[in-house]
Amino acid sequence: MRVSNSWFLIVGLIAFVMAPRIEREAPNIGAWAYLIGVAVAVLLYLSVLLHEISHAVAGLAFKMPVHSINLHFLGGATEIEGEATTPWREFVIAVVGPLTSLAIGGLALACVDLFDQGLVRFAVAALAGANLIVGVINLVPGLPLDGGRVLQAAIWAVSGRRGLGVVVAAWGGRLAAVAAFTYPFLLPAFGLRARLVDYFMGFVIGAFLWAGASQALTSAKVRSKLPSLDARRMGRPAIGVPATLPLAEGIRQAQLARAGSIVVVAADGCPMGIVNEAAVMSTPEGRRPWVSCGDLARRIEDGLMISADLTGEALLRTLNTTPASEYVLVEPDGSVYGVLVAKDVDAAYRAA
Ligand SMILES: [Zn+2]
Repeated sequence: MRVSNSWFLIVGLIAFVMAPRIEREAPNIGAWAYLIGVAVAVLLYLSVLLHEISHAVAGLAFKMPVHSINLHFLGGATEIEGEATTPWREFVIAVVGPLTSLAIGGLALACVDLFDQGLVRFAVAALAGANLIVGVINLVPGLPLDGGRVLQAAIWAVSGRRGLGVVVAAWGGRLAAVAAFTYPFLLPAFGLRARLVDYFMGFVIGAFLWAGASQALTSAKVRSKLPSLDARRMGRPAIGVPATLPLAEGIRQAQLARAGSIVVVAADGCPMGIVNEAAVMSTPEGRRPWVSCGDLARRIEDGLMISADLTGEALLRTLNTTPASEYVLVEPDGSVYGVLVAKDVDAAYRAA
């Protein structure tokens, strides 16, 4: 669990805003009002923590590892590894958060009248109000709010397309952002006066929602391109040559076989290295008969032999684990299918 610096700022702010009201509840309390204000703010954040823990527990129930819970000034965020594999899981992980907040708020509301006037009653009422507001706002159907993920899951379930759900829910988030930006300006129409804090909160929440929604749209776009990435389709046919073969002869054989790449193999046919294309290009024509293929080959280490069947996200993850300019693509039976050149993957991704 992490607590960001902005959290301390907002706890201070809440305490500052609440102190005058606390003084009204308990006169002659003096500077203690600020300390009690801090205590109430911490209490509110403990309920935010429960909200986040509910997301984490739901994720764990579906066997998804939970990385961290962060508390920041607009609430919290739970980082769960990977993504829900079904709309139902997505829905459950998202919806438990607002439900937890509404439950805490409802419970606190029911308890308010158990206390007479005073500080405890004030704290319980603040807990009720804050949690009911957090619960309701989080159900607004726009990303990055929980309600946005609920909407996303619903569209995914109906259409069978996760990407469509993300796009619609992200635009819901942008609409919510516009609503947050403009609400202080609409208050006068309802006979209410907009205070400075309304403009401030409208701007901060609007910016938070807009940024989160835009990020969701970007990742949906990236994701939509991924399925077209197919190692087998992008791979270049390769020829196997002994390490001692002169480069000029290797290139001649490769051209003859219409192969786009040269793999250095041991006597038993086992791949040893990949001839680096950039190194070949920078070797002048006249030098090529005097350089061996083995001299320009990168030794095949762990991670440079990858399955020819890799596609999409799994392929990118594999390439990112061991960054290199070339990889050997292997068939399930261990034989060499060809060579995957990193810049071909980049080009295919950009063209998608
Ligand atoms: Zn949540």
